[in-house]
Amino acid sequence: MINFTVGPVQSSKAVRKIGAEQVPYFRTQEFSDVMLENERLIKEFANASDDSKVVFLTGSGTASMEATVMNTLSKEDKVLIVNGGSFGQRFVDICQIHEIPHDIIKLEAGKALKQKHLEKYENAGITAFLVNVHETSTGVHYDMELISEFCKRNNIFLIVDAISSFLADNFEMSKWNVDVMITGSQKALACPPGISIILLSQRAVDRVNDSKVKTLYFNLKSALENAKRGQTPFTPAVGILLQINQRLKEIEQSGGQVSEQEKIEKQARDFRDRIKDFPFEIVSESLSNAVTPLRALTASAYDIFLILKDEYGIWVTPNGGELREKVFRVGHIGELTVDDNTKLIEAFEDLKARNII
Ligand SMILES: *Cc1c(COP(=O)(O)O)cnc(C)c1O
Repeated sequence: MINFTVGPVQSSKAVRKIGAEQVPYFRTQEFSDVMLENERLIKEFANASDDSKVVFLTGSGTASMEATVMNTLSKEDKVLIVNGGSFGQRFVDICQIHEIPHDIIKLEAGKALKQKHLEKYENAGITAFLVNVHETSTGVHYDMELISEFCKRNNIFLIVDAISSFLADNFEMSKWNVDVMITGSQKALACPPGISIILLSQRAVDRVNDSKVKTLYFNLKSALENAKRGQTPFTPAVGILLQINQRLKEIEQSGGQVSEQEKIEKQARDFRDRIKDFPFEIVSESLSNAVTPLRALTASAYDIFLILKDEYGIWVTPNGGELREKVFRVGHIGELTVDDNTKLIEAFEDLKARNII
């Protein structure tokens, strides 16, 4: 099996080996040291300032999206949400459930965010901004410089879901004045699913500490208090946190976030250069290195996904909803090589020879 999905993705050998071992007890200095090292490396790879803090939450990415909204926003806020697909819609749903007042910038599938979309919200009393920097459902990577300048100008609290973008695209937490960055274990971190990560600026920590939210498991104030000594309030997914530690150290040893990003970019560029002769069209106006979203021009996208999986042992990512028959996505994150791309291209050639595409 070769996995080109956008998560869970393929893990390195050393990360997989940890998954086969006994899970240790965790209220120890040894485990605290691992957690503090995880915090240091996440901050470093997100270009965050020294005073920022990291929470490791046991739960998939959505748990951290919801916890962030619950602990940093309230009914007093006026939130602006970029909704360009199913992950943007998730922020809308979370704000609705928690009764956070919000406005929505709705974008068509594949469309980038532009200055013109933001204009009517200048000096309009917006207090917080929610965006999925890479809207993974359609493969659109938003312009963070544009968003950052808008938020700086209007003194807006900026929350960024970078779950599928962290490590695949550059992220400048401090320079862009981002208050919260969210990521997860199963995307470019290339570990099993189960841990999500919230990186908070000092301004975000202050909001958490002032929050009156009623929740036990999602209480970030108590998570932050525990994190000071490298611990969590409840039993975390200990094994995955050890795998994350292995993976972060692998990245550090091979040159850090910059070289990891270059590796993923090279993998993406190789693939994009080699699909020109196939009846596919790249859907997105603005791409992340993490994934290539393709519109299938001559066949059902969902059928292509099924045939590749069942007859070739190759997994690409299908789309749901109204894009199900039209779009599939090829991921470039996780333990993949250019040779793996070759196998996928050969499978496409075969589908062409069989008149399937
Ligand atoms: C994968 C992903 C998530 C998280 O989804 P979970 O299934 O909860 O892990 C959230 N936002 C984006 C942009 C994603 O790509």
